[in-house]
Amino acid sequence: VKWVYTFGDGLAEGASSLRDLLGGKGANLAEMAKLGLPVPPGFTITTEVCTYFYENEKRFPPELGPQVEAALAYIGGLTGKAFGDEENPLLVSVRSGARASMPGMMDTVLNLGLNDVTVEALARHAGDARFAYDSYRRFIQMYSSVVLGIEHGHFEEILEYYKELKGLTLDTELAAEDWKKLIVDFKAKVEEALGAPFPQAPHEQLWGAIGAVFGSWMTARAVTYRRLNDIPASWGTAVNVQAMVFGNMGETSATGVAFTRNPATGAKELYGEFLLNAQGEDVVAGIRTPQNITEAARRAAGSDRPSMETALPEVFAEFARTMNLLEKHYRDMQDVEFTVEEGKLWMLQCRDGKRTSKAALRIAVDMTNEGLISKEEAIACVDPASLEQLLHPAIDPKAERRVIAIGLPASPGAASGEIAFTADEAERLKNAGHKIILVRIETSPEDIHGMHAAEAIVTARGGMTSHAAVVARGMGKPCVSGAGSLRIDYVKGVMTAAGRDFKTGDLLTVDGTTGQVIWGEVNMIQAELSGEFATLIGWADAARRMSVLANAETPQDARMARKFGAEGIGLCRTEHMFFAADRILAVREMILADDEAGRRAALAKLLPIQRGDFIELFEIMAGLPVTIRLLDPPLHEFLPQREAEIAEVAESLGVPVEKLQRRLAGLREVNPMLGFRGCRLAVAYPEIAEMQARAIFEAAVAVKKKTGEDLRLEIMAPLIICKAELDLVKACVEAMAKAVADETGEAISYSIGAMIETPRASLRAAEIAETAEFFSFGTNDLTQTCLALSRDDAGSFLGRYVAKGLLPADPFVTLDQAGVGELVEIGATRARAARPDIKLGICGEHGGDPASIAFCEKLGLNYVSCSPFRVPIARLAAAQAAL
Ligand code: PEP
Ligand code: MG
Repeated sequence: VKWVYTFGDGLAEGASSLRDLLGGKGANLAEMAKLGLPVPPGFTITTEVCTYFYENEKRFPPELGPQVEAALAYIGGLTGKAFGDEENPLLVSVRSGARASMPGMMDTVLNLGLNDVTVEALARHAGDARFAYDSYRRFIQMYSSVVLGIEHGHFEEILEYYKELKGLTLDTELAAEDWKKLIVDFKAKVEEALGAPFPQAPHEQLWGAIGAVFGSWMTARAVTYRRLNDIPASWGTAVNVQAMVFGNMGETSATGVAFTRNPATGAKELYGEFLLNAQGEDVVAGIRTPQNITEAARRAAGSDRPSMETALPEVFAEFARTMNLLEKHYRDMQDVEFTVEEGKLWMLQCRDGKRTSKAALRIAVDMTNEGLISKEEAIACVDPASLEQLLHPAIDPKAERRVIAIGLPASPGAASGEIAFTADEAERLKNAGHKIILVRIETSPEDIHGMHAAEAIVTARGGMTSHAAVVARGMGKPCVSGAGSLRIDYVKGVMTAAGRDFKTGDLLTVDGTTGQVIWGEVNMIQAELSGEFATLIGWADAARRMSVLANAETPQDARMARKFGAEGIGLCRTEHMFFAADRILAVREMILADDEAGRRAALAKLLPIQRGDFIELFEIMAGLPVTIRLLDPPLHEFLPQREAEIAEVAESLGVPVEKLQRRLAGLREVNPMLGFRGCRLAVAYPEIAEMQARAIFEAAVAVKKKTGEDLRLEIMAPLIICKAELDLVKACVEAMAKAVADETGEAISYSIGAMIETPRASLRAAEIAETAEFFSFGTNDLTQTCLALSRDDAGSFLGRYVAKGLLPADPFVTLDQAGVGELVEIGATRARAARPDIKLGICGEHGGDPASIAFCEKLGLNYVSCSPFRVPIARLAAAQAAL
């Protein structure tokens, strides 16, 4: 079996197509080598070794040792060095690299192969003892913390103590002799912590690092990250071993990270950061503030430190050409790591760059206009869920801002919330219903759950490529990084800014677009849906087959739905129109009246209110389809609870309080969600459906007379279990349509449909479809009734089902395709057999979920209907599903 793939010098055994086997990093290193780009030679140990490792009590396959030796010899041949050689030692980096980028895993060990002897050889070859010992101490620090599990802080403490003693401030001020002394202390620390000396044998070091990479696949952090990002444990990680190149060999050496386009805005500009005379981890660690790559960026940032463009002009020119080539080759924005060793450029990594949703849109549209990708590819490459970020509010430009600190605009958007200083605290407060701003000196992969819980993230330290910045952009959350004036004391739970103390729970607003941290809560405004957003959504609209409608009943929601591009209302929940203060009393009278006359009296009060609501709704929707659902109240939501409310209803009905109490007791249900709701209400009290139908038709006549235009009206009955129920409702609606037509001389056309929300309705779809002209699958209730899980109570235990892998996702969020999905499919198939032109759609929460939308497309449904905010997501997801 081939476990090892080599690359270097214009050749590679792998390619980017072998991502599953080589991991993202290994596959792209191979691809870059094949493109003739300057990649330090190396090899990739495949993800299959990881799988073998865990299937065989953490042992390696027997052929691996010889294959690694051969690969080391191959690198040695290309570099003229040998691994473990005491005269001319080959040093390597060891990095993990899964199929998907995974910040929860062991990342990198640099300078591997150094020991007390080889460090001398390195000093001789480089002609620079300071550099050699600096590299060796870095190696001891990194190897000890990531492979041997010794706290990084111990080494920092030794270093800080030493610098203080000598009156030095920067690491670069330490000379070779200083590092030599520190290395003695570092090694002593290792021996103290480990009970064994720091490993000197290069092969022992190498296998230690390889084992640590595979071991890191199963750490708690990695497991959490995989769970949050739906990455299967079976994928495994690869290990990349590569000849070292040094960015810390003086002022013509450098290291950096860069993007082919701006990952925050999407602008077409080379974007990134670098440090002269530094090694990789210095840039991301945020210890030294990095410099800009281009002159334009330097000027924009107002930095007085030279850009790479002026400091290393020839290397910059080659780098710019390389970036261009990479983007053209991969046809996507690339994120790279590079090192310059004594004026020579080396590419260490490339991958599709993470970007904000705003940048994703701009890049997709720009690349299409540049002819780099097609419209279909542009539609496919934007994650629909990420659009939500753009739909959320930004800070009102007119609002007063009490700015207490300014950092880098690391991830755009704005949010307010209460301060939490630790990830655990953020998670706990979020679960208790608070909105949280996570405030940290810096973040690490251990903080992921806290970042998840937070509305926004603030760090005191770190650049645009710091952990906080990268992860926040990926999550689509506002982030301000490197707000250096913040003083954060975790022990006291206090942040000091602008001369004031802020404690846990104090309110902050974070503006990730400008980098401002603001005291208190600030007014927000709605996002503008123009520019690239409108362009891409326009392309999506042309590509999709299903209609996208909105669940809306209030004028405000209906306007929002139209603004977001809904093609009509797919679900108007009329009970939601009954809660307002000016009518709730009449609604309660209607429910609690103990005879038809009492109910009719209450209904007479409700009729003009309903009619008024429908007139407004029809006017806003201006001829677009409006699907109205007849009353579906879980009764308990409407019953008066407090004594004063009960007294009020009693007085209004003209009955003694005691009598009303008895009636209330009689209406109380053990299982209201499976009780007297949905169509059952219309069966028991047809006068309610009559009133609603009258209100609908009278409103339609009024609007039609005013505008002269026809309306597209659909009326549906909720929670149907049999055809006979629907027949009854239909007869009632028909009679009312005729009555209103006779009274007004204006006939309104409409269609009648059924909400399919019970398994029985799905099974009996054929006969129900004889009456129903359309079906709307109410997948909230259908999930509840199919799984026999209360939608109101499942929250407390469903999380565990997902965490333990018993269910792939929360079925109330993403349609359970195997179970509930089969009921939808059965319903659709049987309905079509009975009525081939029947219109089919869904209107549960799943109507705004991309995976569920893809399923609806597969079944050939006619529409999805979802809450207004998710309409743009659904438009894009429906287009992706149709491609
Ligand atoms: C449903 O059950 O899916 C539905 C849309 O109705 P409601 O959420 O109002 O019960
Ligand atoms: Mg329902």
